[in-house]
Amino acid sequence: MDLPELVYGDEKAFKDARTLLDEIFCSTSPYIKQLCQLGETVKQAIQGLEPILSQFTEPICAECPTGCCVNSHAFPDFEDLIFFKSIGLPWQYYDMTRPEHGTCQFLSHSGCKLLRIQRSYRCTWYFCDSLLFKFEKNNRRDFHIFNAKSSSLAIKRNGLVNYFKHYFAKFK
Ligand code: SF4
Ligand code: SF4
Repeated sequence: MDLPELVYGDEKAFKDARTLLDEIFCSTSPYIKQLCQLGETVKQAIQGLEPILSQFTEPICAECPTGCCVNSHAFPDFEDLIFFKSIGLPWQYYDMTRPEHGTCQFLSHSGCKLLRIQRSYRCTWYFCDSLLFKFEKNNRRDFHIFNAKSSSLAIKRNGLVNYFKHYFAKFK
């Protein structure tokens, strides 16, 4: 089944998505308990990546002359909202009056103001080719660990989303 599509600037679709998830997660069903447990495994996988990202990718991004943090990248898709809700994060406000391709509203001089678990998934997995090339060239062993952990995160996140889809079909 298809999940709602969220587009930067569409406040109504974003609000409807949050309302829907608030209603679904209000249930005391064992499905929700299981969803929350799956969300925790995703959270742990993200936190497991944190040290490697801090050590190897952030220093490269910090020196990047162009940067790639724009408002539309920070904006979550529905799958991100499922994850945020499953670990009990409060809804984050996004100022969608800002230009879609303008510098991200969460970017500060010292980097991203959001915790890794508060960021959209694309913020966690996206790295440009140049960064990946430098990372692999300078730290081959850690690069392989990074790849393995990223794959594990993707599998866990898919597990969460697929479980949600199963439950959501029943909810509808
Ligand atoms: S991912 Fe690449 S383009 Fe984006 S900030 Fe990092 S180095 Fe720059
Ligand atoms: S949320 Fe953070 S990592 Fe994502 S685009 Fe904005 S500043 Fe960059």
